[in-house]
Amino acid sequence: MIQKITGIHHVTALASDAQKNLDFYAGILGLRMVKKTINFDAPDVYHLYYGNENGDPGTIMTFFPFPGIRPGRKGTGQLSVTSFSIPMDSLDYWIERLKTFKISTTTPTQRFDDELVVYFQDFDGLGLELVANQKDKRNGFSYGQIPVAHAIKGFYGVTLMQDSHQRTAAMLNQLLDHQPIAEKGNRFRFSPSGKPGDLVDILQVPGGERGLGGGGTVHHLAFATANDDTQLEVRDRLTDNGVDVTQVLDRQYFHSIYFREPGGVLFEVATNPPGFAIDEPLEHLGEAIKLPPWQESNRINIEAGLVDITLNADKFRD
Ligand code: ZN
Repeated sequence: MIQKITGIHHVTALASDAQKNLDFYAGILGLRMVKKTINFDAPDVYHLYYGNENGDPGTIMTFFPFPGIRPGRKGTGQLSVTSFSIPMDSLDYWIERLKTFKISTTTPTQRFDDELVVYFQDFDGLGLELVANQKDKRNGFSYGQIPVAHAIKGFYGVTLMQDSHQRTAAMLNQLLDHQPIAEKGNRFRFSPSGKPGDLVDILQVPGGERGLGGGGTVHHLAFATANDDTQLEVRDRLTDNGVDVTQVLDRQYFHSIYFREPGGVLFEVATNPPGFAIDEPLEHLGEAIKLPPWQESNRINIEAGLVDITLNADKFRD
């Protein structure tokens, strides 16, 4: 079977406060805000995209900040942890840096070979990890807050917490081109490439309390596919196997289909093109509020309903 799914495209989560979200991901973690737009399904709310300097798929963490959103509950049937990749020698740097901003981390633990992991949470309680490793050959990127030698390289992977792993594993393996590549205790790892950035772990927690969506939880996980043709092939594969899939939706920066995996996590398959430079030059990504063409005529009303957010980079410089 030719691989139509190449890895992770983006992770989208729910937040409460847009400015705090910007401070955390661009300020403290040093990611680049690559797009400031609106939730296409709820235009009174921002959709903030963070990634590497080019906004490459596989580095993109996005948020819908809903002011005053009810906090969610962590549990099974959720993407429970999003992991970022850092160089092996940078773990102490990051523990210190997070401490400076009053963010506590767990004691580093070894997971699989060559992986040292610390867990922490953003201001809404979203589960995050830094995974220090030597396997990741991608370059870090820096905007001045963090020395480039310590910078986050992109995602390492994600963890799906499930009551049992089999049905989710079967979908990943049989319909989404993910192979089982490692297993330890109750953790089962899948990937289409085996590389950092594309790792999907299922953490089996039998009898665990079911998660509830809300602030500080992940809304969906998007996988990457090369183009519109490969996306339709994946869509056919899913529908042929009885999966209920949406039509292709135009998300301006990619095209998307959505479906729920058997354990309850909302999955998306997103095309790599056209990308974030479709409506603003690469060097100015994320600076202006961008709207999809079908919302341009409402710009004045939309902008009036959004709070201004700006990053005071000096506050976060090392
Ligand atoms: Zn998405």
